[in-house]
Amino acid sequence: MISQNRRHFLKLAGMAGVGLAHFGVGQTNADGQDEEKVTNKVTVGHAVATLEDGSTLATPFWRVESGKDGPSLLALAAQHGNEIHGAEVARRLKDVCARRLVAGSVWLVPMANLPAIRVRRHSVDLGPEQPGRFSKGHNMQQAWPGNPEGNNTERVAYALDQAVVRHCSHGVDIHCWNEFWAAETLAVTGHEPSKRLGEVTGTRFISHSPFRPPAGKVSSISQLMHVRGGGTIAMELSGQYQMNERQVEIGLKSMVNIAKALGMIEGDPEPVEGGQVERTRENSHEVVAPCAGIFMPGLQKGTTATLIPDDFVEQGQPLGHITRESDLALVPVPAPVSGYLWQLNACHGQVCDASLPAQHPYVEEGVRLALIVTRST
Ligand SMILES: [Zn+2]
Repeated sequence: MISQNRRHFLKLAGMAGVGLAHFGVGQTNADGQDEEKVTNKVTVGHAVATLEDGSTLATPFWRVESGKDGPSLLALAAQHGNEIHGAEVARRLKDVCARRLVAGSVWLVPMANLPAIRVRRHSVDLGPEQPGRFSKGHNMQQAWPGNPEGNNTERVAYALDQAVVRHCSHGVDIHCWNEFWAAETLAVTGHEPSKRLGEVTGTRFISHSPFRPPAGKVSSISQLMHVRGGGTIAMELSGQYQMNERQVEIGLKSMVNIAKALGMIEGDPEPVEGGQVERTRENSHEVVAPCAGIFMPGLQKGTTATLIPDDFVEQGQPLGHITRESDLALVPVPAPVSGYLWQLNACHGQVCDASLPAQHPYVEEGVRLALIVTRST
């Protein structure tokens, strides 16, 4: 049953390439942007890997061609099978580029790691409650540039590199971390081709790490593109396993801004409302649970909506409260500083991206409940 569906899916994806460009225009008209008549060529290709058992796995991707010289921009989504927002980001970006790409080409891989997606886990070899670090050699993020004679994950990576990655001058590696953490751009400093990408993303938070050439063997896609002279950043959207419209919008805005910054789409990148916040050790303020009990998050100011990571909180504003387990007293948890919530709720044992109990609101005294990032001044 499942394999029939798979075959059916691949067939559909393959056929979709024929008429996609025209579909793109139809959707544009529905959005009320009929004045934009540019129709770029959209094709569906497949990166075909031969697996260990001799069968083949075809990973589909979109390519949008402007027909003019320019950068070749890659969006690679769902290297980790539970991190799926980027798949929808890629789909929407395909439509945007179909009508607005004016230079270069865009390569979109919405489901980079199909074997992991099919088991709905970070990596294909993981079992229940096992986060990515339990994988034994199947973490695609560390499998680049792949190996046609390696394990299946390395074979899929190799096929993707041959069919897609090696053709790209710039790339965005789209991941998602747990929903208790806000979306963040992971940018690199000291690497000129990557610099512009990190300056225009649509996430509230950004963090920087210095560029380091790989000491030994290349393992990540960023390293792979860097040694070839390309520019890359990674993006972590917020939340796994489920689609969230806001996160998809953040991802799409980031990609469109990057395409604009590279001169591939006309117009200026749209800045994040209120400005992007760089997260550093110095401006991160930890809030720990004052007692043991059940934590209930507070409300966004003046609304009935629950606070979520990304929200701005003012000093003294309730982040929530704990119902203390010893005497049922209500213990408030106020924000110690004004700033943006990077984390809200405790991720127990660092496994909340694979375990439901790890997302449970029971907190021990002293665990980190929230992280507030203030603006660096
Ligand atoms: Zn990931």
